[in-house]
Amino acid sequence: MSEVKQPFSLAGKKAIVTGAASGIGQAIAIGLAEAGAELLLLGHRSNMEDTSARIAEAGGSSREVLIDLSDLDSLDRNYQELVGDEPIDILVNNAGIIWREPAAEYTASKWHEVINVNLHAVFQLSQLVGKGMLKREQGKIINIASLLSFQGGILVPAYTASKHAVAGLTKALANEWASRNVQVNAIAPGYIATANTKAIREDAERNQSILSRIPAGRWGEASDLAGAAVFLASSASNYVNGHVLAVDGGWLAR
Ligand code: NAP
Repeated sequence: MSEVKQPFSLAGKKAIVTGAASGIGQAIAIGLAEAGAELLLLGHRSNMEDTSARIAEAGGSSREVLIDLSDLDSLDRNYQELVGDEPIDILVNNAGIIWREPAAEYTASKWHEVINVNLHAVFQLSQLVGKGMLKREQGKIINIASLLSFQGGILVPAYTASKHAVAGLTKALANEWASRNVQVNAIAPGYIATANTKAIREDAERNQSILSRIPAGRWGEASDLAGAAVFLASSASNYVNGHVLAVDGGWLAR
């Protein structure tokens, strides 16, 4: 069936999802596989079996690739050997970390680690994968931004700085690459119940104040992000460029 009749089909497409072991990355990887894509699951620990198994259960196929995204030299050196020459149609820059500490005392090494994984690796991987997409004049890059691409957040200055930058980078790459048929967009998840937000969900007062502001009245599930990712990865979004799509239960509309 043609792309026009199946605008959300990813059959025949190859996708990389970073941070695919858990949370949002896992849900997006499974969603892309269910839509027909073949997956390269990128993580830095051998803990992606659950994601691989769930993709296989859904009838999809995947391969695991181990790269530490905080080690930018190693990413450059090893990318070719690990990923190989296979053309990549879809890149989801999802891996991200957060470190909570008051700004005045913020640990310098943590600042650099957060910026490396959340921003520098996103740019580096977009370059590495994007070059092939530009050559083939076809590709989709989806960056995982945040509500803290728009707001300041509390006790997370490095995270907020990195996620504002991810939104800016998304637009900058979209401006350069849209004319070469490479669509670069981002998803800004709202408050999603994953390991990343465990600490604030366990703080009863913080949990309640967050919940009371979400029009949908609940925390999001990682699976709530899968549909938006399939849309931005598919031909359905071929004229969508540089957009940051909030999937936040209405938080930003409040
Ligand atoms: P998560 O479950 O902690 O997922 C983060 C993923 O990134 C994990 O698979 C982790 O692997 C991987 N990762 C961390 N450091 C890495 C490194 N150095 N090299 C390679 N992979 C690395 O949290 P999540 O909530 O799903 O977060 C996914 C993305 O969504 C992040 O970019 C986050 O900022 C963003 N986000 C989350 C929320 C939310 O409410 N949860 C809201 C807005 C944005 P390991 O587990 O093996 O370390």
